[in-house]
Amino acid sequence: MSAPTFPSGSVLGYPRIGPRRELKKAVESFWAGRTAADELEATASALRVAAAKRLVDLGLDASSGAVPGSFSYYDQVLDVVALLGAVPSRFASLTDEKGALDLAGYFTVARGAGEDAPLEMTKWFDTNYHYLVPEISESTPFRFADDRIVRQFVEAKDAGVVTRPVVVGPVTFLALSKAADDSAPGFSPLSRLADVLPVYVELLRALAAAGAPWVQLDEPALVSDSIDVPAAEVHAAVTEAYRVLASELAVGSERPAILVGAPFGGLQGEHDGLALLAATDVEAISLDLVKGAVPAGPVAGLADKTVVAGVVDGHNVWRADLAAKLALVEGLSGLGAGAVTVGTSTSLLHVPHDVEDEDWTTGAIDVRLRDWLAFADQKVGEVAVLARALTEGRDAVGAEIEASRAAVASRAEASGVVVPAVRERAAALTEGDFSRGDYAERAAAQQATLNLPLLPTTTIGSFPQTPEIRRARALNVKGELSDADYTTAMQDEIRRVVELQEQIGLDVLVHGEPERNDMVQYFAENLDGFAVTANGWVQSYGSRCVRPPILWGDVTRPAPITVDWSTFTASLTEKPVKGMLTGPVTILAWSFVRDDQPLGDTANQVGLALRDEIADLEAAGIGIIQVDEPALRELLPLRRADQAAYLDWSVSSFRLATAGVVAETQIHTHLCYSEFGEVIGAIDGLDADVTSVEAARSRMEIVPELAEAGYARGIGPGVYDIHSPRVPSTEEVTDLLELAVKSIDPRLVWVNPDCGLKTRRYEETVASLENLVSATNAVRAQLG
Ligand code: GLN
Ligand code: ZN
Repeated sequence: MSAPTFPSGSVLGYPRIGPRRELKKAVESFWAGRTAADELEATASALRVAAAKRLVDLGLDASSGAVPGSFSYYDQVLDVVALLGAVPSRFASLTDEKGALDLAGYFTVARGAGEDAPLEMTKWFDTNYHYLVPEISESTPFRFADDRIVRQFVEAKDAGVVTRPVVVGPVTFLALSKAADDSAPGFSPLSRLADVLPVYVELLRALAAAGAPWVQLDEPALVSDSIDVPAAEVHAAVTEAYRVLASELAVGSERPAILVGAPFGGLQGEHDGLALLAATDVEAISLDLVKGAVPAGPVAGLADKTVVAGVVDGHNVWRADLAAKLALVEGLSGLGAGAVTVGTSTSLLHVPHDVEDEDWTTGAIDVRLRDWLAFADQKVGEVAVLARALTEGRDAVGAEIEASRAAVASRAEASGVVVPAVRERAAALTEGDFSRGDYAERAAAQQATLNLPLLPTTTIGSFPQTPEIRRARALNVKGELSDADYTTAMQDEIRRVVELQEQIGLDVLVHGEPERNDMVQYFAENLDGFAVTANGWVQSYGSRCVRPPILWGDVTRPAPITVDWSTFTASLTEKPVKGMLTGPVTILAWSFVRDDQPLGDTANQVGLALRDEIADLEAAGIGIIQVDEPALRELLPLRRADQAAYLDWSVSSFRLATAGVVAETQIHTHLCYSEFGEVIGAIDGLDADVTSVEAARSRMEIVPELAEAGYARGIGPGVYDIHSPRVPSTEEVTDLLELAVKSIDPRLVWVNPDCGLKTRRYEETVASLENLVSATNAVRAQLG
């Protein structure tokens, strides 16, 4: 049997939460016990069928596997755990005799139960999506435990759409897995490839039997330097995996034709994953031509394969210039591929559903953006147009190509996109704008004004966001609570938080951030150059969705943002109050950013706006200002070769924001993640006077690492893991503090939780902070 033809236009995946977050609501209602599993199944089924039909309406072919079957109840990596029955031993009782998890069990592995911790969660390549990390040991059982993928194919087919099931490939699955705690030292999950492949073989056989013409196996491990497995091992595994899956099974009768997806980077270059895949017997390879360059050709082995040109950006929200995209597709002609088709660079999971889900009539969002943006549905439309250009000739879609050119041109010329004053200010920056004076002098000046005790205690900024706070904000947004009453409600909250901190005995107080819906969105709403959406939801993990702001123009600050809140707070106490801002890198990382200038330039614009805010805080008498950069590590490029340039501009933008203050003003920063490795030098480069970091779970590991790397400014290693409701005991905190002062000069050590407290309840927060203060007193006494 010969391979089917790959459809001329396709996308690597589609959002699965539903246009109004229907899946989130259905899943959470199931978790809360309000609905039964079969009701959740029915809602999910309706969403899947609706999405498949929508994709056909938008121009994808209904019969050839153009429509991706990329649904998941929680996470696509967890789906492979379920497929393989590869459940960690602590959850073994959740599986039936065939190794299958029911829906409740599936969610338990994702979310934990009692003492049984869930699978760890971590970032999916360079996106803001988080996947669950499988735990694999020498003895993890693998069998074809779950045929959900096959059933979903049949479901769509019965509804009239022949989909292309999308599954994380075996190599990427194992490369992203971690060695389970009970495995031998040095064990590598990828060593279990031979045991996993038979399950994929069974899956492929079942899909072929059900009539699937194509299956998509995603292998982004091929493009990333950031996974722990050496590239050579990934390559050997890919060759072996696709020998077993592609060469040993007859296409058509024993398996569907295979598309290998390699999103998030270029396949060629140093790693040459393209040559490697070309040498296998898979039928199609998808290239990310947004992150990766057009590969040089010809490449041996492609003559009998389809290359899917991933030219439409699955990762950003801008409408494409279709003529330019078409030129990119045509640039692949030298590869010597059997066929070239059009697709997206990545799954569309990372963008919202539909631009038309916004209400463009109210002025809440700048109406000009309607024509400039492309969310998932618009991107599918772009793919469909490009596909027609390939099959019917460019003239068949001349009008669409012209419309896209006009939209891109109107954006380039629109007022606010380029603000001359912003450009002039950026152009006039000099070295001096990025640096503060000598640290020793600053430290002495700060100590003289602030007069802080040894081991100063503080928090990271937010206090619990109570239901009352959220309700007040919701009412204010709806217009049912006046701005003045809202402000009063927030001030009352700040008063309570200040009194509480004084009672607990903390040294440096915060206002608690009650007025912020989100640490990035709050600033986006208060800066020009950003738009926020009403329905632009994107899945972050599981049922959690975020609405990233859209940074579309030059950034300016029309008015001070936080100054009134901070001065109000300072008026309530004699203790120093810390002003609280989100840093430029984090604002960029959690927004959709413009694609028409280097990120570093955009970061400097945000840096300048924050610099003005910091100057105003300083002028208002706020002597300590914290600029949070929790996303500094997350934006780090996957390719090692690109990391130095990133660290350079990201550190610069932070310094630009913070370097305008006098020596007496103390600048703090906050970073939270557990692996500091590649960014440890950057932490020093930020030149903050005090850096607070997540450290409780790793038992202060970061402190000696920082000391070794030459860091010699204030450091606040977290002593309270705020990710759990557990209250750390005084003894526990004392132990951690003793560890910290052992490896770094005690005069540099600050005492604080791992991160903000907004997700915690007051009960555990108060008890934990009280223990934090008594532990500090104990260690102060020891130090004398
Ligand atoms: N200041 C923020 C807070 O306390 C920091 C949050 C974060 O690091 N993610 O909530
Ligand atoms: Zn944090």
